[in-house]
Amino acid sequence: MLVKSLSDKYPDIKLENVTNIRFDLANTLGLEISKVFIYEGDTLIHNYVGDDLTSRNFQYKILNSACGVCLAKPTLIIGDCKYCAGKYCGKHRLPEEHYCSRLDDCKQFSRSKNTAKLMAESLRTVKV
Ligand SMILES: [Zn+2]
Ligand SMILES: [Zn+2]
Repeated sequence: MLVKSLSDKYPDIKLENVTNIRFDLANTLGLEISKVFIYEGDTLIHNYVGDDLTSRNFQYKILNSACGVCLAKPTLIIGDCKYCAGKYCGKHRLPEEHYCSRLDDCKQFSRSKNTAKLMAESLRTVKV
């Protein structure tokens, strides 16, 4: 599938097998995952985990310093999540508050695919 870039500086990225779109894009681009923001349409969806890509329309944006949830300025040092390496503001720095992808992997490994998908759906409220 083609993930369209929302910034002129970065190319559209073709991904063959998507399992975790934010990690896959960060790897492909050679960038820190905390700088990669995933959009579906014009809505920030945080991340998408799964391989059901029929009728999905993903785009990405590179932001050098923004909270992974609300795009506010991240809090220095304590805003860095030690689980997922993301950067977050004071309000979203705790794993529970930013639907931490890594914490989810540890806690609910067996049903992680569905859960993460539902979380991604539930986060579709933050508009650009
Ligand atoms: Zn935030
Ligand atoms: Zn985290």
